[in-house]
Amino acid sequence: MSRVAIVTGGTRGIGRAICERLRDERGFTIIANYAGNDEAARRFTEETGIATARFDVGDHDAVVGACKAIEAEHGAIDVVVNNAGITRDGTLLKMSYEDWDAVMRTNLGGCFNTAKATFAGMKERGWGRIVNIGSINGQAGQYGQVNYAAAKSGIHGFTKALAQEGARFGITVNAIAPGYIDTDMVAAVPEPVLEKIVAKIPVGRLGKAGEIARGVSFLCSEHAEFVTGSTMSINGGQHMY
Ligand code: NDP
Repeated sequence: MSRVAIVTGGTRGIGRAICERLRDERGFTIIANYAGNDEAARRFTEETGIATARFDVGDHDAVVGACKAIEAEHGAIDVVVNNAGITRDGTLLKMSYEDWDAVMRTNLGGCFNTAKATFAGMKERGWGRIVNIGSINGQAGQYGQVNYAAAKSGIHGFTKALAQEGARFGITVNAIAPGYIDTDMVAAVPEPVLEKIVAKIPVGRLGKAGEIARGVSFLCSEHAEFVTGSTMSINGGQHMY
């Protein structure tokens, strides 16, 4: 029987690449979550044949309800990839509380919500994989992103703490910190700013969504059972530590 995996924000960008790789390489049954872009979700299912579930990862009750419904329809959730993320950039003095809150709720709160909804079941079955998508900007900070950098940095702390809680129960919890990846999120960065960013990447180009997906697939595999609490940096050498 194939394991059931949910990938939040799975219908576009990095999430989509993760869904396809986990299905093709691991043979998982994938449920791709999304927030509200029904047209992108419809196209995603049409092109991949993968099922979707619309809910806001920042809404605790919605996540718990959706996970119950997914388990009733597809079976127990053994794998969670917390990939949904948003940006609401601005320097501190220009950032509203709403922009702070939206990013914390979605990017960091989403990880708590999905883990709360699925961790007990993984513990009971003695096997689980949780992979949280952090960011280079959570490791190094970034001008104009106090909300995003704080949420992503929080993901790295959340990962290390939960890894300790899961370790004895066959549950691994890891993070991936992508550098700049060629997706809609990065397409929103103004061209002159992007040129400066690429100039700082030793490999000399943006990353590809598939390169993040390969890392996720490894961390979700049976071979990665001794890897937990780690952060895999996939950033073309932009940030090394
Ligand atoms: P995209 O903006 O391309 O896609 C975002 C996905 O997340 C969409 O499926 C979107 O759904 C979904 N989503 C957004 N908010 C919510 C929510 N509240 N509830 C459920 N789903 C939601 O993002 P990327 O592929 O670029 O990024 C994926 C992850 O990787 C993010 O966590 C991002 O922070 C991280 N990252 C990205 C980098 C990059 O260079 N692109 C670099 C480092 C980290 P919908 O289509 O309905 O809006």
